Amino acid sequence: MGEFELIRRFFTRPTPRAVLGVGDDCALLQPGPGMQLAISTDMLVAGRHFFDNTDPRRLGHKALAVNLSDLAACGAKPLAFTLALSLPTADTDWLEPFAEGLLALADAHSCELVGGDTTQGPLNICITVFGEVPAGPPLRAGMPATQALLRGGAQAGDDIYVSGTLGDARLALEALQGHIQLPTDLMAAARLRLEQPTPRVALGLALRGVASAAADISDGLLGDLGHILERSGVGATLDTSIAITLIASQAYFSGARGQFHQNPSELTALQCVLGGGDDYELVFCAAPAQRAAVLAAAQASATPVTRVGHIDAQPGLRLVDAQGAPVDHHFASFDHFRSNKAANTTAP
Ligand code: ADP
Ligand code: MG
Repeated sequence: MGEFELIRRFFTRPTPRAVLGVGDDCALLQPGPGMQLAISTDMLVAGRHFFDNTDPRRLGHKALAVNLSDLAACGAKPLAFTLALSLPTADTDWLEPFAEGLLALADAHSCELVGGDTTQGPLNICITVFGEVPAGPPLRAGMPATQALLRGGAQAGDDIYVSGTLGDARLALEALQGHIQLPTDLMAAARLRLEQPTPRVALGLALRGVASAAADISDGLLGDLGHILERSGVGATLDTSIAITLIASQAYFSGARGQFHQNPSELTALQCVLGGGDDYELVFCAAPAQRAAVLAAAQASATPVTRVGHIDAQPGLRLVDAQGAPVDHHFASFDHFRSNKAANTTAP
């Protein structure tokens, strides 16, 4: 199968919303009146971001999901995407499920495949998504004139929230790398979180005008909240007694299943929640006056959200227990955990 047949067969689809889709030198998009284009790119490299033997259907889903997650973090509505694909061989048995996983998620978000590039080479998937957000007055003086959710809008006193669950993707990765062993049912669920994340697009849209800042969690809560703190020039306090409840695989860490815990570096639930990547949930901030509005946004988008802390004027990130006392978190082992991650299959 040649390059053009491959494109025609797997990646050429009707694009009713785009002015022009696949087949010309450029695709053409028409954002709505008063709308701005939100653009983001993420690349997935075999052996680096996913295992070579990953189910192609899930890989197709994930390649687009990680990009939609960036639109979600901005509160942007998906419009279209391009797909740059480097493939070792034109293998139909791989391409078919890959395209199915990719295009099913695209359809679910009415995000049209409008172009791309296809070349022979090591497996590498690069997607660029285009979304739209309304133009608008800046949140505060000195900020960009947009209604997009930005990393730089958090203010002292704001609450900090996280959507969904955190840490399970990391747990699955540890298991796939052979560091730990998970019971079959927990492994299936955690693996789904790693390989088929849910981009929180509806929540992001519902948080426009409500959240002061947002980011998606691709590298771990501490790291991605850290981006918000840095861009906003603020600090934060996180309640670890709440954070630790965010991992869905609770059973692995408690009692009966402790026997499966064979990780020599003593992986803890809190480490998975705070440092685990690949969850693609949102971390966002909102003024306490917006609590009812945040709940309404969560309900409207059918996405659970949990308040995990607050923004401080004082820079830095403080971890506390339920009583507000500092948690002496073993950062040495935590850092070790982070540096392990860099050498292995990780989020983009
Ligand atoms: P060019 O020579 O201008 O780079 P190509 O010959 O690479 O164009 O691609 C032909 C058309 O197919 C273009 O419209 C391009 O956007 C589209 N295309 C190429 N690869 C893909 C792909 N993997 N998915 C979707 N569209 C693609
Ligand atoms: Mg080309």
